[in-house]
Amino acid sequence: MIVRLLLCFLCSLFYAVTSDAQRSTDEALERSDYRKVESVSVLILSTMLADRGIGEWGFAALVEVDGRKLLFDTGARPQTVLQNSVELGVDLSDVEDVVLSHNHTDHTGGLITLRSHFAEQNPRALSRTHVGKGIFLSRPGDGREWNPMPRIREEYESAGGEFVVHDGPYEWAPGVWLTGPVPRIHPERNWSGVGQLRTANGLQADTIPESMSLVIETSEGLVVVSGCGHAGIINILEYARSQFRRSNIHAVLGGFHLFTADDETLKWTAQKFKEFGLKHFLGSHCTGIEAVYQIRDAVGLARENCVVGAVGSSFTLGEGIDPVRLAR
Ligand SMILES: [Zn+2]
Ligand SMILES: [Zn+2]
Repeated sequence: MIVRLLLCFLCSLFYAVTSDAQRSTDEALERSDYRKVESVSVLILSTMLADRGIGEWGFAALVEVDGRKLLFDTGARPQTVLQNSVELGVDLSDVEDVVLSHNHTDHTGGLITLRSHFAEQNPRALSRTHVGKGIFLSRPGDGREWNPMPRIREEYESAGGEFVVHDGPYEWAPGVWLTGPVPRIHPERNWSGVGQLRTANGLQADTIPESMSLVIETSEGLVVVSGCGHAGIINILEYARSQFRRSNIHAVLGGFHLFTADDETLKWTAQKFKEFGLKHFLGSHCTGIEAVYQIRDAVGLARENCVVGAVGSSFTLGEGIDPVRLAR
């Protein structure tokens, strides 16, 4: 009896301590001095659908926040982003920062071309590339190396570029965050599942641990940009809400690797989007066309606010999505 009473007492003590800790975390996240940005625009420069420029299996987007630019991923083929930027009349020569969301060639293929092309005009152009920890790990298979990043690192550094490796959240500009690697709370498993990773403990299944996203704090809620979403889009959004601000999710833009997801997974994903108050969804690259339409129905979004991303389509804070022509 005494033991039971003691256990009860310890339990209630533990509950009191943890709920206090939870409350203070919530208060910190609900802080009123969070750094809202004034203007955000995200323009897609590489994805499959294109009614201007070149379409490819890949992803890249130019992100502009309060006048500062960064290139999020660089497309698959060496020339795609460069040619599409010319065709869309977009200047990349004053972009200094690049984010590579993960190692896959459909996101990293344009980096060297872009750096070499613009360095003549501006030595700082595309000279700093942010990556998540784990991106350079060896991915062996069939007697070859599948990770392009060791080779890209050599070429990029000899062209004057610098990699910045993030092991946790990083505030790139006031209110603009890189997530760093994202904890996999839910078993979303949004990757092909065939690769292997060489670690200090030997070969392991490659979960693409370095995958990271961009999160922007706005007065409307969080705006999130993802490359392939290998960490799982719900894991990414929950992490963003726990680390940066527990507010609604205003816009989710980019690739989310849902093209192989079954109806049940899409329904669960959409339910979470609904709980987070999602208002805009620009499903590009590996999101899957059917996935975009199921999400539109299940979340209850209008056709203007839930669109298949194309080369040249964009999101602007305060204006919403411009789908260009075909995906309208
Ligand atoms: Zn990928
Ligand atoms: Zn991809």
